[in-house]
Amino acid sequence: MRDPLPVDPVASASGVRITLADGRELIDGMSSWWAAIHGYNHPVLNRAVTGQLAKMSHVMFGGLTHEPAVGLAQRLVALTPEPLTKVFLADSGSVAVEVAIKMALQFWQAAGTPNRNRLLTVRSGYYGDTFGAMALCDPVTGMHSLFTGVLASHFFAEAPACRFDEEWNETFLADLKEKLFAHRDRIAAVILEPVVQGAGGMRFYSPRYLQRLRELCDETQTLLIFDEIATGFGRTGKLFAMEHAGVVPDIVCFGKALTGGYMTLSAVMTTDSVAATISNGQPGTFMHGPTFMGNPLACATANASIDLLLETDWPSKVSRIETILRETLKNASQFAGVADVRVLGAIGVIETRTPVDMAAMQKRFVDSGVWVRPFGKLIYLMPPYIIGEHDLRTLCDAVVRVAGEFYA
Ligand SMILES: *Cc1c(COP(=O)(O)O)cnc(C)c1O
Repeated sequence: MRDPLPVDPVASASGVRITLADGRELIDGMSSWWAAIHGYNHPVLNRAVTGQLAKMSHVMFGGLTHEPAVGLAQRLVALTPEPLTKVFLADSGSVAVEVAIKMALQFWQAAGTPNRNRLLTVRSGYYGDTFGAMALCDPVTGMHSLFTGVLASHFFAEAPACRFDEEWNETFLADLKEKLFAHRDRIAAVILEPVVQGAGGMRFYSPRYLQRLRELCDETQTLLIFDEIATGFGRTGKLFAMEHAGVVPDIVCFGKALTGGYMTLSAVMTTDSVAATISNGQPGTFMHGPTFMGNPLACATANASIDLLLETDWPSKVSRIETILRETLKNASQFAGVADVRVLGAIGVIETRTPVDMAAMQKRFVDSGVWVRPFGKLIYLMPPYIIGEHDLRTLCDAVVRVAGEFYA
C-alpha cells in the first residue's frame, strides 16, 4: 500500500524473460519463487494444459478418479524412496503442510496416543501462511506476536547452526535432541525443510543433521516430516534435498515446482504404515477433501513438467548455474555491508548486515533489466534451470553491482 510498484504490469513472459507493458524486458532471477524451473510459456507445458483442457478442466475427486491424477501419483511414487507409497493431492504448499500436520495427528489418535499432538521444529523455518503452517514458522520472522493466543503452540529448537559442508559436530543438534527427548510424550512429529531453510532465512545446513535426526526420531518413535516444497525437483542439485542425506521421512510435502510454476498444486506422500494406521483408526479415513483436489489441468501439467525435467540433463544445468553463481556472487563478499555469500545448487544468496531498502533496490534491479526480489537481509537468486550462460552472467553482474551501490 505504501510503496507503489516500480514496474508496469507484466504483459507476457517467455523463457527467462518477463516483458512489461512498457516493452521493457527483465531477466528472471526468481523462477516466480522456486516454481518456474523450465522458464515461462514452455511449449511442452502449454500443450499439456491445452490438451487436458479439451478433455476436462476439472471433475470432483470424491468417488471419482482420472488418469492425470493417477499418472502423477505413479510418477511421485517412482521418484521417491521406497517407503513413500501413498500420495495425497492438495491445493498449495501451505495446504500440503496442513495435510501433513493432520496426518501426523490422526496417526497418533489412531495409534491410541492422542496426547502426541504437538510438533517439534527448528527456528528460521518457513512452512506457509495458513494458521497451521504459520504456527510452525519462525516465531520472530513469522510474526507469531500478531496472532498470540490463536496459533497452535509447538516446540521450537535452535536452527541448525552448521553450514552445508561444515564438519559434523553433535552439538549442532543438541538443543533439538534435548527438546525431543524431554517432550517425546507430547510430540507427534518433527517437521523441517531438508538441507535448505527457504523464506525463513535462506540457510543451508549439513545433511548429517538429517541423518542424526532420523536416528533420534526412530529412537523416540516420532514421525519425521520433510517440507520439500521449495527444494523439490532439482533446485539443490539433487532431485530432492533429502537425497543429500539419504534419509527418508515418514511424510513429505511437495509444491512450487511441481507444475513447473504453471498453477497451484501440492502433494503429500507418506508410508504404507502411516496410511494404514490412519485408515484403520477412527473415523476410518483421512479427514481432508478439498473441492479442487487432484485438479486435472494441474496434474496434467505436473506430469508434463516432471517428464520434461527427467528427459533433460537437469543435473548438469543446475551444476553449471551453481558454478557461475559461485564465481560471480563471491565478488559481493568484499562489500562492508555484506555478511555472507552462499551458493547451493541453483540457489545464490547474498546476506546483508542490515535490512534492504526493498523499494529502492527493486527499482535499481528493474532499471538494470533483471527481476530480483530481495527481502529482509537477503538478496537471493533462483533462476529457471534453462537460463543461458550469457543471461545468467548479466543477472549476477547486475545483482553484485546493485548490492555494491547499497552495501559497499
Ligand atoms: C512456499 C513454501 C510453502 C508454502 O507454499 P504456498 O504454495 O506458498 O502455500 C511451504 N513451505 C516451504 C518450504 C515453502 O518454500
